[in-house]
Amino acid sequence: MREQDYNLKNLTKCPLCKAKYDSSQTFVLEEGVSRTVFHLTCSKCQSALLAFISEGKKGVVSLGMATDLSVKEAREMFEKPPVDKDEVLKVYKYLNNK
Ligand SMILES: [Zn+2]
Repeated sequence: MREQDYNLKNLTKCPLCKAKYDSSQTFVLEEGVSRTVFHLTCSKCQSALLAFISEGKKGVVSLGMATDLSVKEAREMFEKPPVDKDEVLKVYKYLNNK
């Protein structure tokens, strides 16, 4: 998938301070056939966001989620295979319970 194929409209700005994300602060944690996960760090307020972009029958769906995981921690978390829908749910619950 090319970057312009993603529906990143609501993920290009920090949800907290509305600053535009710097592409140098954006890291791909995982790139799959139908799903890509990004870690974004706001250059202004330093808050981090996990972005899930998935391609389904209804088109491309994007989900942004605030996180206090650093890029390194997030990478370690996504290195654990296998990653499927249940794994995403687990990550989601994990992040929400923190
Ligand atoms: Zn910000």
